[in-house]
Amino acid sequence: MEKISVAVRFRPPNPAAADPSKGGDREWRIDDTRVTLVHRAAGPVPGAPFVFDHVFDRTATNERVYGTVVRDLIGAVVDGFNATAFAYGQTSSGKTFTMNGSDADPGIIPRAVRDVFDTVRQTDDREFLVRVSYMEIYNEEINDLLTLEGRRLPIKENLERGVYVAGLREEIVNSAEQVLELLQLGEVNRHFGETNMNARSSRSHTIFRMVIESSAKNQIDSEDPIRVSVLNLVDLAGSERNNKTGTEGVRLNEAGHINKSLLMLGNVINKLSENGKQRGHIPYRDSKLTRILQPALGGNAKTSIICTAAPEEMHIDETRGTLKFASRAKCVSNCAQVNEILTDAALLKRQKREIEELRKKLQGSHSEGLEQVVLKLRNDMHKSELERDRLAMELEEERKLRMTLEHHLTEQQKLEGLDNTSISADQFTDSTQLDALKTPDSKYTPDGFVAHRSRYSNDVEFSPLPENLDNVANDDLWACLNKGCVTDLDMLEMTPGLKREASLLQDATSAAPLEEPTDARCQRLEKDCVSDRQQLEESNVRCAALEAECDLLRDKNSSLQQELSDSKREASLLVSEKQAQLDDSVARCAALERELCVCRQDAERLATEKQELAGELGVERQKMEELKQDIRVISRAFSQREGQLTSLYTKSKAILENCKASHAATLS
Ligand code: ADP
Ligand code: MG
Repeated sequence: MEKISVAVRFRPPNPAAADPSKGGDREWRIDDTRVTLVHRAAGPVPGAPFVFDHVFDRTATNERVYGTVVRDLIGAVVDGFNATAFAYGQTSSGKTFTMNGSDADPGIIPRAVRDVFDTVRQTDDREFLVRVSYMEIYNEEINDLLTLEGRRLPIKENLERGVYVAGLREEIVNSAEQVLELLQLGEVNRHFGETNMNARSSRSHTIFRMVIESSAKNQIDSEDPIRVSVLNLVDLAGSERNNKTGTEGVRLNEAGHINKSLLMLGNVINKLSENGKQRGHIPYRDSKLTRILQPALGGNAKTSIICTAAPEEMHIDETRGTLKFASRAKCVSNCAQVNEILTDAALLKRQKREIEELRKKLQGSHSEGLEQVVLKLRNDMHKSELERDRLAMELEEERKLRMTLEHHLTEQQKLEGLDNTSISADQFTDSTQLDALKTPDSKYTPDGFVAHRSRYSNDVEFSPLPENLDNVANDDLWACLNKGCVTDLDMLEMTPGLKREASLLQDATSAAPLEEPTDARCQRLEKDCVSDRQQLEESNVRCAALEAECDLLRDKNSSLQQELSDSKREASLLVSEKQAQLDDSVARCAALERELCVCRQDAERLATEKQELAGELGVERQKMEELKQDIRVISRAFSQREGQLTSLYTKSKAILENCKASHAATLS
């Protein structure tokens, strides 16, 4: 058992509402875990301070709130535990700011989405399948925010899936960006047809849900368990009272619905916070919100509640109501455990083998395009499964209706046979026979949720709710509950509920006025009979249409299967093409390697030759130097000899001249 974690967050004061001249006498004093109402002059207002797991003042960022209250839940969800975080508080106290945040400081939802994918990426030993849905509860009707067609969706329950919203679109996703885009789409759908978005957003609850399935990696054995966990992130409608906001007309009706579901939430929390033995029946089925959040409230989930509050003095009553709700929530315990399932209820299990085969073939090709094809196929398969479930459900309901009508007809034919015999209610041994006399409309309850509710009224002797509550809660009652008046709650719990037997009797008498004359009754029965036949025919036509739709879906299914096998074929073609390319490349590589080896050997040989030649060249150069030296010596000697010869020649020439001159002188 584990207590629900409860945090309180005060937003900064609204500058528009701040009027220094009206500076009030009282204010909230906050520390890490406590909130106290203080009279500025007289000190603390009598009464114990409110104590919580965490209290955040105006300076707290979404990052801090997320890190303190929600981050741990994400790890748990990825490990297979269910988890829920919701924001509760009056309008304008900061619930949406806490859940969605701003661009500068994203809120719990975007941070949780990113953390889920980061944690999944870090968990190497498991394989994950994540899908998301986004719904709104508005006027006690569930609308799908991911598609405009999904309006007024019913809540169903079966052994395999537990409590679920039938027909809700679920998208298989593989990145945070994809989820954030879907959330934006949800916001756009919420805006659609609604002129005053803020008015609506404060009057509707939104539930963003991530379903995470995982299995150990490389595990193809169908006996191995799959973990399936659900993360709910809920932004509740404002919890203020009607008269404060001056609500009237349509808005009053809306506010009634909000108050009803928040009243039921408060009621469930009250019951859960009571001592185990005195607790008794928990009225989860009394509102769609509590029914959907059932596992998160005293069930199999880890839960965090962030109660947002406005600090202004004018909101003191609402803030006190919120703090009382938070105090009661603090006493609630949950019992969370890892959800492991062996059946085919896990989508991952159903899709695993085929996808695994495809994935194996794709391994190594790193083709992002093909990963996208796989994701699209996963989504198509899932959608067609959901569509098949929806049609099967409709078909089942039609069949039930047809059987009821047929049974009704048989009974009437029997009655027509009872000529002039007086009929009294005593003749009917059980209520089902009386039921058969009722018009089909009053008997037939196509909505499984309604059927379950009536079972619940069988279970307990006293309903925790007053009989006349209907759809709109009494405002004073709400105010009292929001203020946590325990005595009034006790009064509520002791109000006797509708007893099933009584209602059946009442139904029987209103449906079959047994005291009327036989002729008139026969005429009426004949008329009923004609209308029943008509309904039966209509039902047959609808059945045929549904069967045709079913056939269409089957065709679509087989075309999807065809597409899948085409993709597989394409993938294997691609794989073999790539394999051939790879073989080719390997062969070319081997040839190139051989060539390279030869080249290397040549290069080594040439290098050695080059070295030898360089040595020889050095020797030759040396010789040449020596020869040059010799030539220089010889040319020097030659120049000397030339000088000597020139001077000898000059001397000889002078001697010859002298001789010539002396000879001439001699001759003369
Ligand atoms: P709620 O969803 O409870 O009706 P909102 O989240 O819409 O309230 O908040 C009302 C206004 O107060 C918005 O303008 C929002 O930006 C602002 N606000 C709420 N909480 C904070 C906060 N902690 N810090 C700054 N602004 C806030
Ligand atoms: Mg809001």
